[in-house]
Amino acid sequence: MQKINFLDLELQQNKIKSILDTNLKKVLNHSNYIMGPEVKQLEKALEVYTGAKYCITCASGTDALILSLLAYGIGKGHFVICPSFTFPATAEAILITGATPIFIDVGKKTFNLCYRQLEKTLENNKNKLDIKAVIAVDLFGLPANYNKLKAISKKYNIKIIADAAQSFGASVNEKKVGNLASLTCTSFFPAKPLGCYGDGGAIFTNNKILKDKLVSLRAHGKSTSKYKISKIGLNSRLDTIQAAILLAKMKIFDWELVQRDRNAKLFNFELEKLYKVPKLPKGTSSAWAQYTIIVEKRNKLMNYLKGKKIPFMVYYPVPMHRQPAYKAYADKNIELKRSKELSRTVISLPVHAYLKETEKEYILYHLKRAKNIL
Ligand SMILES: *Cc1c(COP(=O)(O)O)cnc(C)c1O
Repeated sequence: MQKINFLDLELQQNKIKSILDTNLKKVLNHSNYIMGPEVKQLEKALEVYTGAKYCITCASGTDALILSLLAYGIGKGHFVICPSFTFPATAEAILITGATPIFIDVGKKTFNLCYRQLEKTLENNKNKLDIKAVIAVDLFGLPANYNKLKAISKKYNIKIIADAAQSFGASVNEKKVGNLASLTCTSFFPAKPLGCYGDGGAIFTNNKILKDKLVSLRAHGKSTSKYKISKIGLNSRLDTIQAAILLAKMKIFDWELVQRDRNAKLFNFELEKLYKVPKLPKGTSSAWAQYTIIVEKRNKLMNYLKGKKIPFMVYYPVPMHRQPAYKAYADKNIELKRSKELSRTVISLPVHAYLKETEKEYILYHLKRAKNIL
């Protein structure tokens, strides 16, 4: 057995090599490295792909979150709710704007935020804290329930921001991520479902006012001209070179989604009697950024897999309310039992589009065997 990769960006590159070369050569020829024609072209292509009216690319998924919060006017004195079980950037973006995060728990089946606790937190607040927004995270590629969130947002007059860094390409009842929330942020970090060869991100919206604000905010808050500054913004544009790479990757993106979905469903079918496997709500597809199972005796499984040279990752070993930099913001009255428990029990397995049949068989064979020692 050759070495199994957790991700395989090399085989992916082979598949798009010629179009990649052509696209990169074009950029080197016109030398328009900042906001070159490929950036506009990519934004158009992503608007068509998602069905969202506007796509605003930016320098990273983290910046997409910061820009979104700024576009909503969120900052000092404001509070933003987010799940504790997520990637640190979700909480970091809130804190960087000067606002304060309120961590809530997640559901055990979806890994997405717990709507019951969200409502309870908003109900108990009774306007004590100035809660402006909720950042819902589509963890591991599964979109949150934006219908439920829309109803909550109306009832309590708060904004919903989708952290779709891991779910680009997924959909709910045929509607694509990017068109499910009023503001959707995604990341093009190389390991995300649609990744470039560096940092990159994008924001999607159907709202023209928000779009205009975001276009200004990502370029230092410029207004009618480059040197007329109307807002305090960021330097957060997507490089032309990264846009050219993403345009090449989009050619195989849907094919990759199908392969990952097939792999995840095969793993679910073979493992569901032995492990807690991820389940999709009806009508919802996942981008399968990660295939994550829950195992009580995780250490034992990790040692076994190491011995068999099967790669794995733990996303995430520490919930946000226990991070040294964020723990001061943990609210003792909000129970975060499941976030704690998941940090101790989750393990992600390779699910990428380039897994060979023999590799899948090998992984499944050993996961079944490992069950005897767990
Ligand atoms: C990766 C990720 C981010 C940040 O994206 P970057 O492009 O790395 O800045 C934010 N939120 C979640 C849930 C992520 O997985």
